Amino acid sequence: MASVSSDEDTPSPSDQSEQDLVPRHQCLRKRRLGMSLISYFVTFAVVVFCWYQGMVPGRVVGQFALFSIVLNGAFWVLIQSDFNLRFKDPSMTGAQMVLSLLPALWVMFHLDAGQARAAFLMIAMVPLLYGILALSLRQFLAVSLWFIALYGLLYLAIWTFKPHLLTGARDMVQTLAFVLVMAEMAIIGGFISGLRGKLRDRNRDLKAAMARIQELVNVDDLTGVYNRRRLFEVISEESSRYSRTPGSFSLCLLDIDHFKEVNDSYGHQAGDTILKTVAQCVANDLRAIDCFGRYGGEEFLIVLPQTPLNGASVKAERVRKAIEELRFPQITDALRISVSIGVAEYVCGENTDETLARADQALYRAKDSGRNQVITSAAPGPSAAVAAD
Ligand code: GH3
Ligand code: MG
Ligand code: MG
Repeated sequence: MASVSSDEDTPSPSDQSEQDLVPRHQCLRKRRLGMSLISYFVTFAVVVFCWYQGMVPGRVVGQFALFSIVLNGAFWVLIQSDFNLRFKDPSMTGAQMVLSLLPALWVMFHLDAGQARAAFLMIAMVPLLYGILALSLRQFLAVSLWFIALYGLLYLAIWTFKPHLLTGARDMVQTLAFVLVMAEMAIIGGFISGLRGKLRDRNRDLKAAMARIQELVNVDDLTGVYNRRRLFEVISEESSRYSRTPGSFSLCLLDIDHFKEVNDSYGHQAGDTILKTVAQCVANDLRAIDCFGRYGGEEFLIVLPQTPLNGASVKAERVRKAIEELRFPQITDALRISVSIGVAEYVCGENTDETLARADQALYRAKDSGRNQVITSAAPGPSAAVAAD
């Protein structure tokens, strides 16, 4: 008997794009078809044993093997050619379950011993078990009806061609038991399948919630850019990267000039609007690998990976100019904002707190020198700070 394929455990399309998923699903289907072939081998062993016991002729063993290979081969060709993607259920679960019964029915037709036929009925249950992993209650009932119909056909064939094999009461008991067990399996299977569906939905919701929590943990409420926590994480990742590979990263520490005065003159809400506008202005003009966040209050930090000091100072100067040009019509047309920026390059082996402290010192030198300017911090050693403009 065959196992059947289902896409139940594969990620939902919301996790990945549809296009990425198709080859993955097709690969899974082929793997499951391989598993199905192994199930056929198990049944094949029983058929061989029946032949060994003289219950079926040798040609039936060969026919069983051929039938199994042709069936599985046909499913494999459908998947390989992507033809299965045109079907409502590309996994062809129901079809695989129903057709997997045919080789066994063929053997059952040729079995002379009625008792041995009952053994094959047990084997017929295996694909139903696989179906629990894939089918809904309705699909399950449909497959069960197919099973019962095929089993009925088998009895019709035996009654027509080998009526002497029928034993009346015993065959009726077997058939009745088969039908009842099928119905029970369908109901239980459908129920389990429903539970699996619910579990899958919960997992998806949980994943979405986890992603949202992760986002909230890293993002500053007011400005929507990264928060201090995430900034420190990135700085630590960068420093450990450059302890293994050559290169360096730089930090630009921004502080809005005279922000207290702005707050005092226009109110705290206006202050918040300015913080948001400044944050968006900087965030919109960064490379994908750069990281920008709110360091605290009206201070922001830009982490520039793979950027030496001179590159970082050029970038900082661009940011300074962009902020200088910001306008706030919602507060007042006359309002102008400027920032002072301290820039420091991480030096291999240095503690990142020291790099931050150097950026901070440079920032304070920028404040002392009249604000609205960029000051870079020289590498540790003999202290030297150079104005960038
Ligand atoms: P300096 O040019 O020396 O940096 O002067 P400053 O006024 O910007 O510096 P100071 O550190 O004295 O003031 C920072 C102000 O930033 C004080 C505080 O009211 C304001 N601030 C900090 N966080 C927030 C915030 O979330 N919203 C608003 N509206 N204001 C904030
Ligand atoms: Mg400050
Ligand atoms: Mg300030």
